[in-house]
Amino acid sequence: MTLGEVYERFGVRRLINAKGPATRLSGAPMRPEVAAAMAEAAQACVDIAALQAAAGEVIARYTGAEAGIVTSGASAALLVGAAACVTGLDLAAMARLPDLAGLKGEAVMARSQRNQYDHAIRAVGLRIVEVGLPDRVAGAGVRDTEAWEVAAAISDRTALIHYVAQPWSRPSLEEVVEIARAAQVPVLVDAAAQLPPKANLRRFVDAGADLVAFSGGKVIGGPQASGILCGRKDLVAAAALQMLDMDYPDGSQALPPELIDPSLLPGLPPHGIGRSCKVGKEQIIGLLTALELFVSEDEAAQLGLWASLLGEIRGDLAGLPGVHLALRDGGGVPVLALAFADHERAREVLLELARGDPAVHLEAAELDTGRLLIDPVCLDAADAAPLVSRLWQVCA
Ligand SMILES: *Cc1c(COP(=O)(O)O)cnc(C)c1O
Repeated sequence: MTLGEVYERFGVRRLINAKGPATRLSGAPMRPEVAAAMAEAAQACVDIAALQAAAGEVIARYTGAEAGIVTSGASAALLVGAAACVTGLDLAAMARLPDLAGLKGEAVMARSQRNQYDHAIRAVGLRIVEVGLPDRVAGAGVRDTEAWEVAAAISDRTALIHYVAQPWSRPSLEEVVEIARAAQVPVLVDAAAQLPPKANLRRFVDAGADLVAFSGGKVIGGPQASGILCGRKDLVAAAALQMLDMDYPDGSQALPPELIDPSLLPGLPPHGIGRSCKVGKEQIIGLLTALELFVSEDEAAQLGLWASLLGEIRGDLAGLPGVHLALRDGGGVPVLALAFADHERAREVLLELARGDPAVHLEAAELDTGRLLIDPVCLDAADAAPLVSRLWQVCA
């Protein structure tokens, strides 16, 4: 079997992914152990709530959170997490979403943290209340949203504070948590792409976040459509109730008590707003298998392997006309930066590589400064030669 043959049956060519685990490039290739575990899971049926309860124990062990569930992605985790912050364990409220009449309808967020994934928060019916001025980003000053501005935006309409974790996020999560605790408002953290380092599996829970969302399909190496929601037990239970299939004849018997204490509920809600974010048994098993591998692997050794692959590519690209090559940190993962003397050229090369055969995709986050980045996370060792040869063809 050659790599990507199954796609060719349907007329689709595999591509060389030097951009990293982007959704539009179908995420990362999966470790064989993860793919094998998913294939095995696909052969037998289980009670899906019991499987989520078991997943919660694994997630709790590795994140330090009270509870967790597997979701169909970090975005899905944000949606069901936000829904949980709005409803708590109020079944009538769950049934009503996204109609927020009579419920807290606002999510407070630093203006500089607004991004395309916060659609998941708005999908629950919430209105995002933007706070502060991103002067730092606008080039108008040195400041960003400040803690007092977050505090001033909280009212009796606030269902949650939405915090997007990046190394440069302001205010700090610790400051936001302090304000949130005082106001008794939960903090939902988008930490989708904050791994590696694997220490970040615990970092946001340790800082006091009530709920944290991670992507399973990025560096964890789980299925492309998987994610993690972890945090407070009551909120994770509320999220699970709104995501799982609730079509039971007798609810009191149906739900595993480790996931949801049935004595807290007068019954069961109908399918919730998260029903459209359904996650399959294969995704759950795949995510758990990938998470165990991710946690147990030697992080320094993995970084070393990526760096040495990039080092080889760098050696083979030495002398590429008009391009300065530099190996550097790319947010926890090493990257090879190709800096073009002529900035416009970087854009042309990017497009030509993507249109070529084989199609080659590089990271374009620094296009405006004339740089293309090679990210090693989704690269197969066998991709190095065609990648290098395409770059020579296009740039020479
Ligand atoms: C990737 C990403 C997401 C979405 O993650 P999925 O697992 O693809 O749903 C959300 N937020 C941020 C900041 C991300 O980088």
